[in-house]
Amino acid sequence: MKRKIPYRTYLSEEQIPKYWYNLRADMKDKPEPLLNPANLRPVTKEELCPVFADELASQELDDTTRFIKIPEPVLELYKVYRPSPLIRAYNLEKHLGTPAKIYYKFEGNNTSGSHKLNSAIAQAYYAKEQGLDGLTTETGAGQWGTALSEACSYFGLPLTVYMVKVSYQQKPFRKSVMEVFGSDVIASPSNTTESGKKILEDDPECGGSLGCAISEAIEKAVTTPNTRYVLGSVLNQVLLHQSVIGLESKAALEIYGEYPDIIIGCAGGGSNLGGLIAPFMKDKLTGEANPRIIAVEPASCPSFTRGKYAYDFCDTGKITPLAKMYTLGSGFIPSANHAGGLRYHGMSPILSKLYHDGYMEAVSIEQSKVFGAAVLFSKIETILPAPESAHAISAAIDEANKCRETGEEKTILFGLTGTGYFDMTAYNDYMTGKMTDTIPTDEDLKKGFDSLPKVE
Ligand SMILES: *Cc1c(COP(=O)(O)O)cnc(C)c1O
Repeated sequence: MKRKIPYRTYLSEEQIPKYWYNLRADMKDKPEPLLNPANLRPVTKEELCPVFADELASQELDDTTRFIKIPEPVLELYKVYRPSPLIRAYNLEKHLGTPAKIYYKFEGNNTSGSHKLNSAIAQAYYAKEQGLDGLTTETGAGQWGTALSEACSYFGLPLTVYMVKVSYQQKPFRKSVMEVFGSDVIASPSNTTESGKKILEDDPECGGSLGCAISEAIEKAVTTPNTRYVLGSVLNQVLLHQSVIGLESKAALEIYGEYPDIIIGCAGGGSNLGGLIAPFMKDKLTGEANPRIIAVEPASCPSFTRGKYAYDFCDTGKITPLAKMYTLGSGFIPSANHAGGLRYHGMSPILSKLYHDGYMEAVSIEQSKVFGAAVLFSKIETILPAPESAHAISAAIDEANKCRETGEEKTILFGLTGTGYFDMTAYNDYMTGKMTDTIPTDEDLKKGFDSLPKVE
């Protein structure tokens, strides 16, 4: 007889993966390489090392090593908050009256309130190992800045965080949390960098964007001795570190003989989704299984569903290497009333390639629907989700509702990437009927596409 599946499944500490899984090793058609914008040749490790810690530069370019050992000090810190629970959404299933079985992997059980700590720990560790004197980064909503602040504080590394100015003003407590961990938090655009000054000259009131904060953080890193830059999403190395999410999910499901028919994740830069699907995508690439994989993005920042698969800069200031990805153009900034997160203009090159080759689907959802799903989920599953995570909830509900109509008993797995306690302004807008939906017109998008570099 099959075991009754509990609400929450925790693997044991020993079952935390000892290796990260590098999905690129199993892709016959590899993601397109990063290009040096000066000569349009693939970037080399030597070119990346002034920006990233050496080991992370290697991981960024490594298309072939299938499993990469998680260093012992990283594992030790993982043990403080991992394995994260895999939760069976019995209450949600019952509420929807669906025959579908719904599971979610909850990554909000740590102070950063999101999955971002999984990569922050790894990146801080390698920087410390190399003897660096400090790191710089950017943060939008604040989760990445918080996660990296925690990790840097643990390993004793100074950190400067460029925080998108609108978030800095709207979420002062996020800034305070980072300061508790000892980080220096600067509102971006700022006059501490040339790229910041340039943006402020053009528009002194500029509220900033992720792309702009990235330019500032990189500039600061390369102009400060023995300092490097780190990024919390999009990059291959970040997807690698996030593979712990998928590896744990798969191991927990295996205990009950379960395998997902549908896997759903929200997609900003693609790191949680890339991590969640990694071992399942492996099965798909090798022909062992064929789950549907769905990326969910905001209708106001629709990189997959309306973007172009093209080489583009990763930042507004156009100082990063070029990445081939689904992009809205590095100049794209989502509408000011967009509160649901996932605002980045591009998408992970790994996921972009898989989507382009037909291994994944993508949907976009308007934010009022997303917040409706968030409120329902809070009441029923008693976790107040991050708006980002609520994109995945909303799509999972849609799929479960389809199962109710067709009577199919599908198994759905989605990623619940974090909690939303710092997003209460957005929740409040929704609850008081002030939230609106803005979907960019083709005309709006054209401006972003016109900013794409000419590569071909
Ligand atoms: C940053 C973040 C995301 C989106 O980033 P990805 O790299 O696409 O995973 C999703 N959820 C939460 C809670 C986040 O903090």
